[in-house]
Amino acid sequence: MARILVVEDETRLAAAIRRGLEIEGYAVDVALDGVDGQWHAEQAAYDAIVLDIMLPGRDGFAVCANLRAASIWTPVLMLTARDAKKDEVRALDTGADDYLVKPFAFSVLLARLRALLRRGLKERPAVLQAGSLRLDPAAHRCHRGEVEVELTGREFAILEFLLRQSGDVVSKAAIMENVWDFAFEGDPNIVEVYIRRLRKKVDEPFGCHSIETVRGGGYRLAAGEPRT
Ligand code: CA
Repeated sequence: MARILVVEDETRLAAAIRRGLEIEGYAVDVALDGVDGQWHAEQAAYDAIVLDIMLPGRDGFAVCANLRAASIWTPVLMLTARDAKKDEVRALDTGADDYLVKPFAFSVLLARLRALLRRGLKERPAVLQAGSLRLDPAAHRCHRGEVEVELTGREFAILEFLLRQSGDVVSKAAIMENVWDFAFEGDPNIVEVYIRRLRKKVDEPFGCHSIETVRGGGYRLAAGEPRT
């Protein structure tokens, strides 16, 4: 039986989540503030944590960052407020595995939890890496080997998106949607311009070929180390 920690200060919502999860056969503990939530997560081995962001005592970002800093890799599903895109990004940057926007359907919470439990417990550092290319989204720093590479905000966002797809082919349209907002109606070829700039910064000076063009209109990030 999977054991879930719910950290949520809205008592009615916390009780509803607990009841729903228990009906599904999960064992559930509830913490009503961030300090108590972190204490629980450090004391007991949970299979997943549902973590609200706005909490008294210590917010969800801090709780998640503290757990990761303590090498506690329990999967975290963060609850974010509606229309807070920044919170979603920050949730992932602080080491959360997924987020759910409030208000949500309970069936969606269950589905996300099942997905997290399937993935299981493994070390997932918040730093993204492919070969000698490392990106630290929280600190907004990029390194190729020991060399720090300066990237603009947009370049960084594109590289981060490619890294998060871990070797899958990503279409220009997908990059547009994720890095620019949905309302952007520019020329998709702008993506090519940025890819060229990125290659000039993170690949060419180092003899690497990590950003691959895939025929049919996409890109893929590979380790792309220089041939020896
Ligand atoms: Ca709250």
